[in-house]
Amino acid sequence: MSEMLDIKSMTLDEITELIVSNGFPKFRAKQIFGWINKGITNFNQMSNIPTELKNFLNTSSYISVANIEKKLVSRYDNTVKYLFSFNDGECVEAVVMSYKHGYSICISTQVGCKMGCTFCATGKSGFSRSLTPSEMLGQIETAQNDLDIRISNIVLMGMGEPLDNFDNVVRFIRLVSSDDGLNIGMRHITLSTCGLVPKIYELADLHLGITLSVSLHAPNDQIRRKTMPIARKYSIEELLQACRDYFKTTGRRVTFEYSMISGVNDSDANAKELAQRLDGMNCHVNLIPVNTVEGTGYIKSNIKRQQSFIDILAEKNITATVRRTLGSDINASCGQLKRKHQSEGGK
Ligand code: SAH
Ligand code: SF4
Repeated sequence: MSEMLDIKSMTLDEITELIVSNGFPKFRAKQIFGWINKGITNFNQMSNIPTELKNFLNTSSYISVANIEKKLVSRYDNTVKYLFSFNDGECVEAVVMSYKHGYSICISTQVGCKMGCTFCATGKSGFSRSLTPSEMLGQIETAQNDLDIRISNIVLMGMGEPLDNFDNVVRFIRLVSSDDGLNIGMRHITLSTCGLVPKIYELADLHLGITLSVSLHAPNDQIRRKTMPIARKYSIEELLQACRDYFKTTGRRVTFEYSMISGVNDSDANAKELAQRLDGMNCHVNLIPVNTVEGTGYIKSNIKRQQSFIDILAEKNITATVRRTLGSDINASCGQLKRKHQSEGGK
């Protein structure tokens, strides 16, 4: 038998071509696409589709699912963390956060990650495989249906490096923003990368209109190389040049993530060097007191250090904010729940 089609990763045009070339009428494609994007898990649930077409779909295709394996709700701020499992049993994490302007979801793009950043729980778990577009959509749909909410913002900041799964991530972004799909606009999508320089240029050229967030975490190559292996491949100057280009090509301001680790990257001298490097760039800096991951020995910077960074960056007119800590009681930092699940015998 030929391989089953991952129908939820297909565009409306592709589904149209599939069914028309198999003798079914064109208008059925929109109905099928609509059902799949509502989060159904079985073709037999498509009540307005004739049996013959359902049979064809059942024998040619499958609907990928994101099942809830675990769910934790924060007592403090209603942040919800999920561990989802896919058709093959692999698991990833996602977090739903509620803000004044609506709900935001942080989703995963890979099972594990190859990049090996030393402070990251996901990096420590190794790499298993990349996610399909349908598995990224599934995380959002399952969460929306479970919580009975409509999610308005997506951040690709969960497990995995999105630009290391470029084609699937781009396809996902196009599907999730399409009118007939979940219809979440490009402006409400943020992609976070550890800095795969050639892929940043490729992304800029697609003019998607999404926000790029770059995990910088250091003011120079020497410190960056201590915590981020990718920094040995691309220098900080090459990375910042790609970010300038992203702004020039897309008009979208780049955000820099800076995890503050006590005694590693949080001195006044580090802040001054960072301010110097980012001088003149249209950007925003997100300071994140590092989440302690077992076995790293890293400690988060104190409030005084955080304020000092904000003040030094402000002198160069660079805005910096400390990211609100959500779900601190449920280990909302990605990779931690999965590690716990694995240590209890899960996949
Ligand atoms: N791979 C991408 C996106 C996923 S990681 C990237 O690295 O950008 C999402 C963000 O969480 C990144 O900014 C990452 O550096 C940060 N992060 C990972 N582990 C962390 C920890 N223990 N404490 C604080 N931030 C962390
Ligand atoms: Fe991968 Fe991002 Fe974690 Fe680095 S911080 S190991 S790139 S998920």
